[in-house]
Amino acid sequence: MLNGKTALVTGSTSGIGLGIALQLAKQGANIILNGFGDHTGPKAEVEALGVKVGYSGADMSKPAEIAAMIDYATAEFGGVDILVNNAGIQHVAPIESFPIEKWDAIIAINLSAAFHATRLVIPGMRAKNWGRVISIASAHGLVASANKSAYVAAKHGVVGMTKAVALETATTGVTVNAICPGWVLTPLVQKQIDDRSANEKITIAQATKELLGEKEPSLQFTTPEQLGDLAVFMCSPAADNIRGVAWAADGGWTAQ
Ligand code: NAD
Repeated sequence: MLNGKTALVTGSTSGIGLGIALQLAKQGANIILNGFGDHTGPKAEVEALGVKVGYSGADMSKPAEIAAMIDYATAEFGGVDILVNNAGIQHVAPIESFPIEKWDAIIAINLSAAFHATRLVIPGMRAKNWGRVISIASAHGLVASANKSAYVAAKHGVVGMTKAVALETATTGVTVNAICPGWVLTPLVQKQIDDRSANEKITIAQATKELLGEKEPSLQFTTPEQLGDLAVFMCSPAADNIRGVAWAADGGWTAQ
């Protein structure tokens, strides 16, 4: 279905981003990976699906590096047809002791990076009259939790920006939407489980049960593959007129 299209998935060396890259590649999309850490393993995994795969090590907190990544996509892949704004980080602390540098980093990576990447790909998408911008926001783009002020602010910001840009592109073949996952068992969440287990002196299994029980009525994690398949659906013709949504995939978290 996506043969000949190119998808840039930010933060795709791990977790949800890699899951989305794999599902898009299974539909035939060429993939540009981005993110820190080892990228050779993920690159080989996506290449095994028979599509062209590139990689940019751009630090998503740096606008100049984001611009260089889009230039690379244009030179090597003829542009970006599908942008998945996924790179993100977390820090948990009450507002009085929230480190200023963590606030700045979360806003830069979780929110401003989506602005920069989106503003740079929209002209090419408009020129082709086809494009998809899919931002991985969060249940925290719709509701809050204590001690996550920066993350909640950034994710609400992503949802707001999504709506604004969806309106700006509403008469075109470019759609702009957000996906709002609940808990997904990735390194980002494993750290929160490990911290809870250490702080409360309980087992990892108990900490996992507590984490899910607090927020997620289904008591189940959403998987990167499921989010990838949702992204695939958003790239399909059935989703041509789905614009500006913040689509929860959260086991009922935000239905409460
Ligand atoms: P993860 O830690 O597994 O992956 C994050 C990715 O972002 C990695 O590839 C990492 O290298 C990359 N990254 C981090 N900082 C970067 C930077 N400055 N520049 C470039 N790349 C950078 O996390 P994840 O759980 O897969 O999260 C992916 C996205 O999904 C995030 O935006 C997160 O907020 C969101 N999300 C996650 C959950 C969850 O439960 N895991 C729930 C809702 C939303």
